[in-house]
Amino acid sequence: MADDLFNSFMTGPDESGRFGKFGGRFVSETLMPLILELEQQYEHAKTDDSFWDEMNDLWTHYVGRPSPLYHASRLTEHLGGAKVYMKRDELNHTGAHKINNVLGQIILARRMGKTRIIAETGAGQHGVATATVCAKFGLKCVVYMGAHDVERQKPNVFRMRLLGAEVIPVTSGRGTLKDAMNDALRDWVTNVRDTFYCIGTVAGPHPYPAMVRDFQQIIGKEAKAQMQAAEGRLPDTIIAAIGGGSNAMGLFYPFLDDKTVEIIGVEAGGKGVNDKMEHCASLTGGRPGVLHGNRTYLLQDDDGQILEGYSISAGLDYPGIGPEHSWLHDIGRAKYVSVTDKEALAAFQLCCQQEGIIPALEPSHALAHVIKIAPELPKDHIICMNMCGRGDKDIFTVARHLGFDMEDAD
Ligand SMILES: *Cc1c(COP(=O)(O)O)cnc(C)c1O
Repeated sequence: MADDLFNSFMTGPDESGRFGKFGGRFVSETLMPLILELEQQYEHAKTDDSFWDEMNDLWTHYVGRPSPLYHASRLTEHLGGAKVYMKRDELNHTGAHKINNVLGQIILARRMGKTRIIAETGAGQHGVATATVCAKFGLKCVVYMGAHDVERQKPNVFRMRLLGAEVIPVTSGRGTLKDAMNDALRDWVTNVRDTFYCIGTVAGPHPYPAMVRDFQQIIGKEAKAQMQAAEGRLPDTIIAAIGGGSNAMGLFYPFLDDKTVEIIGVEAGGKGVNDKMEHCASLTGGRPGVLHGNRTYLLQDDDGQILEGYSISAGLDYPGIGPEHSWLHDIGRAKYVSVTDKEALAAFQLCCQQEGIIPALEPSHALAHVIKIAPELPKDHIICMNMCGRGDKDIFTVARHLGFDMEDAD
């Protein structure tokens, strides 16, 4: 842990974009000038009040921030231990936290004079958020999506097309998120002049992990102020689900130097982390390597081939994790656990029944960990979990797992 006098957990990354031995900029020479220009422009924008004025105005009037901090009183009573709060980012426009970041990157793109936005998406949520903001600003939007995911995520593909985006199915490699990322990077180098690459989580080459975190930390800043207003103190434990790690980094970052606050990230344990990679727990079940321009923990086989991973929640099946999480894990400031599909499904149902909130399957993982630990904790222990997305998109998956036939229902 840091020395009290001068060390802070909030100073990273260093000039080369590293958080300890993680992060950095592992990109081809052709990409380097684009990354450097982006870094320079972002460094300028982030200290410019007019940038944040525009952001705050849209956060308020377009996204619907601040999102409430909600005391889940029935769930708290049901669990019989710690007091449970939910940060309600599922109430944002487009139903999740992703738009917080997309808005920041697109305001930046506009300042840089870019007119064409590219993105890659797995489950489609980042693609939808990007298509949404592009429509709002009249920007051309191109979304790369693995062919396999295009098949699996038809409603989101249709949403993106309704919003005016071009969805390009990627058939190279195995036709998944990792391949879509590679095609997006290739597009960027060939369309340097007018194109901005909008990344959806705290991954990619520097400055993306830091920039996305900066845009998402509004979650933690609000939660901190709201918790002070509600309880007059900080929470004892904060918990968030991890795909690439952006909603978690957004909640965690403002609390990193508050040493009384325990920080827990919840990875997707799928069918169990001890199995044959039928999970997406990069930290709990992976090891360090390089993917998507940065060094971090990854799911890989003995030869270093990136593995696809599996989770009931499509939004959690990123094969890596943001480099700042890898660092927080290695220095011990945050703890990372995993939750299985089964546990997440049970949490999903309990949340519906106890709180009248249909959560996305991603935050259901965070909630499942709350359900595990809250009963053993004293009643004055405060937990704040990030309800980072709503579950409308997931009801078909849940119905299938519960054996409910949507066709026959009336
Ligand atoms: C995309 C998504 C995630 C996973 O991404 P992070 O970068 O880890 O936040 C989690 N929850 C929801 C609701 C999502 O849409």
